[in-house]
Amino acid sequence: MRKNFRVVIDTQKCKGCGFCVKFCPKNIIHLNSDFNDKGYHSAVFSQKEKCTGCALCGLVCPDIAITVYEKGDEV
Ligand code: SF4
Ligand code: SF4
Repeated sequence: MRKNFRVVIDTQKCKGCGFCVKFCPKNIIHLNSDFNDKGYHSAVFSQKEKCTGCALCGLVCPDIAITVYEKGDEV
């Protein structure tokens, strides 16, 4: 059975650098058109059905703003 993953982005930690957008092999992260409280376009995760759970997005984020959960992992 295919595993499901959920990517949680802390939009207030995000500085909009775009690394996660660039490195996601499935192109399912983009930058929001709205600004966060720090004035950055924060990253947004969509199309969770396409996520492979590779966690590259979390690895490349310099602000540790991304956590990847396997379905059922959340606390
Ligand atoms: S875990 Fe992998 S596939 Fe899923 S959003 Fe992050 S980089 Fe993309
Ligand atoms: S890598 Fe981190 S700081 Fe950069 S856009 Fe993505 S979530 Fe924001």
